[in-house]
Amino acid sequence: MISFEEALAIVLAEVTPLPAEDMALEEALGRVLAEDVASDRDLPPFDRAAMDGYALRAADVAAAPAALDVVGEVRAGQWPDLVVGPGQAARIMTGAPVPSGADAVQQVERTQPLDEFRVTILAAVAEGAHVAPRGSEARAGDVVLARGRVIDPSATAVLASAGKDRVRVARRPVLALLVTGDEIVEVAARPAPGQIRNTNGPAVAAQARLAGADVRLLGVAPDRQDALAAALREGLPADVLVVSGGVSAGDYDLVEPALLDLGATFLFTRVAIKPGAPLVFGHLGKTLVFGLPGNPVSAQVTFDLFVRPALLRMQGARVLERPRVSVELRAAFKNRSGRKTHMPARVRVEGGRLVAWPVRSMGSGDLAAHARANALVVIEADREEATAGETAEALLLGSFLEDDGAPL
Ligand code: AMP
Ligand code: MG
Repeated sequence: MISFEEALAIVLAEVTPLPAEDMALEEALGRVLAEDVASDRDLPPFDRAAMDGYALRAADVAAAPAALDVVGEVRAGQWPDLVVGPGQAARIMTGAPVPSGADAVQQVERTQPLDEFRVTILAAVAEGAHVAPRGSEARAGDVVLARGRVIDPSATAVLASAGKDRVRVARRPVLALLVTGDEIVEVAARPAPGQIRNTNGPAVAAQARLAGADVRLLGVAPDRQDALAAALREGLPADVLVVSGGVSAGDYDLVEPALLDLGATFLFTRVAIKPGAPLVFGHLGKTLVFGLPGNPVSAQVTFDLFVRPALLRMQGARVLERPRVSVELRAAFKNRSGRKTHMPARVRVEGGRLVAWPVRSMGSGDLAAHARANALVVIEADREEATAGETAEALLLGSFLEDDGAPL
């Protein structure tokens, strides 16, 4: 069996970047930027007042209090048609261009109007105070956002500032998803005795969508090689084909033969990890194929560890991995598998430190327990147990910040 690291390297090496497309900025949330974006103007585009107050010459108020002549007013959105000379000030609003002659702004709270044409400045200000100089954030032509950035709200603001009402982003990867198992019924169906609901389909589809994929659901296929092959064929062409279940060593685990039937080649079929030892990866023509274990927790964890980074790399994202942090274990994490283990855990901030507990789980089918996890604690293959008080590595999952403090 190959290691986690070897397997991930094999997957990432097989990924080819998807072509880019143009789209409206307002549609681009979650997409990966496929161009370096330069500012088309200096930012700020003019010396900008950062406070409501008076634009003045700092030297005039060095021995404040000092009275100045008010020569006019500059509002945001106006271009000043006045010059501030010695002994003069202009009333100015936040966001307005600082008129020439002035080299600082004193905030209105530190001033006292004498009459309509005179103001007392109550405190001295340094040259440049409360003025954001033209070009101090970026110069025209500077790259303000680099390709590979996932477009989030703050990136959206930068794109807007650069005038990008349309942006170049990676096309979404098309991910076809087939769920397998004679015992599996769709969510809307009433399970007969011996049947269980399809939870991997909805869960993996959701994970894929959060990783930017355009998901095509192929439904549920029975454990028959011909039916599996027919359903898999429906999934082509796709950039990624994900199959849940049917990859263990059981008599009815027929996904591998069905894929071989269609002409797939495998790069690995087992990885020394827990959860998820049976994990199939290969290609079928240009389509990357993943066979995930059917166990619900295993399916979600292996998706996160292997499929998600592949989807992100396809889109040219620079960050492929979950945030990897050090956590202090608050209880023992047992690992008798002899394999590298990613254990669902709850991480919290306590006294400024990250601390982790294993979620109390009945096993890899315990979905409710897995939903209480917000991290995966990594225990190496040669450790049978990591004890309370030890420091361990953890990958933070998307739900990390949502902690209602509920008991574990
Ligand atoms: P398999 O990998 O097909 O042997 O499945 C392993 C376990 O996961 C079995 O208990 C299955 O019933 C369960 N399982 C497989 N697929 C799903 C699914 N789509 N939803 C819920 N449980 C599943
Ligand atoms: Mg099965």
